[in-house]
Amino acid sequence: MFVRINQSATSEQVAAIRSRATEAGLAVYDEPTERGLTLALLGPKGFDEKLSDELVAMPGVASVARPSRAYRLSSQEFRGEPTVVKVRDAVIGGGSLTLMAGPCSIESREQLFEVAAGVAAAGATLLRGGAFKPRTSPYAFQGLGLEGLRLLAEARDRTGLPIITEVMEPAQVDMVAEFADVLQIGTRNMQNFSLLNAVGRTRMPVMLKRGLSGTIEEWLLAAEYILAAGNRQVILCERGIRTFETAARNTLDLNAVPILRRLTHLPVIVDPSHATGKRWMVAPMSYAGVAAGADGIMVEVHPKPEEAWSDGEQSLTLPMFSRLAGELRTIHSVVSPMHANPGEASGR
Ligand code: PEP
Ligand code: MN
Repeated sequence: MFVRINQSATSEQVAAIRSRATEAGLAVYDEPTERGLTLALLGPKGFDEKLSDELVAMPGVASVARPSRAYRLSSQEFRGEPTVVKVRDAVIGGGSLTLMAGPCSIESREQLFEVAAGVAAAGATLLRGGAFKPRTSPYAFQGLGLEGLRLLAEARDRTGLPIITEVMEPAQVDMVAEFADVLQIGTRNMQNFSLLNAVGRTRMPVMLKRGLSGTIEEWLLAAEYILAAGNRQVILCERGIRTFETAARNTLDLNAVPILRRLTHLPVIVDPSHATGKRWMVAPMSYAGVAAGADGIMVEVHPKPEEAWSDGEQSLTLPMFSRLAGELRTIHSVVSPMHANPGEASGR
């Protein structure tokens, strides 16, 4: 249940509410906002009417609400203002435009540094690059591993761009966290609950990609694992889902953007590279993602896409990214006031 605390409540009163919840076997999560403190009291059992009545009567309690969704900490009803994730100088969410760009896989120092310098010059806000690659075939390039992480950290030093990279298993979390600024959970691991718990314990920003066949509710419940482990810096990434359609690699579910806006306070990024699998589709679907209200995009960029060791067909060249970045800034400047103040037509 969600307990709103009176602005005038004393710390003793709040402590008494907490200890009553703990006594009832519930975990307590704090949400301090400008409108005051809310506590989420969460446990495996359903809503406890008796406890709710008891809490309402306690001094310091303004109201007690029954959550209407299966996910709790990620819901708009728990936190009504956008979560803004800060990563070094970059800001993700809250009306900013985030451009994550870089190679699918880190292949070599030359390749990575060339992309890093190019995307930085074009105004990217984060550098992406895979060191541990979840490949469909065991014979495909699996990534440079630790060496890739070291190169990525060097590229950050050279460009000043924060770095995002995938972590594939709980045993890798400490190592990847030592280098990365944002931990990425790939589509194939959206429901790897032990991995979600492990990244939840790091307190580092985590970008959770939507599972290939994950519903929006399952995705938010996956995010909930990270939040419930104590990490509130979660970013969602729509990267296309598997449908009956085979003309593109996946189907970019742009419905997810406004739906998530309504359901959650977490920032939303769109990845049109993995969603389409085709270089020529990346720009139009990036425009669409930003126009729909996404907080930014993640795209794959390679100096010579035809020579890429993975996902060359969907990788942009550096000049293509540079042009796209400018176009997206233009689109964002036009649409962001509309999303900040939705008109009648939005029905909001
Ligand atoms: C990636 O972004 O490197 C990646 C592997 O993407 P996904 O998990 O969406 O397939
Ligand atoms: Mn890729």
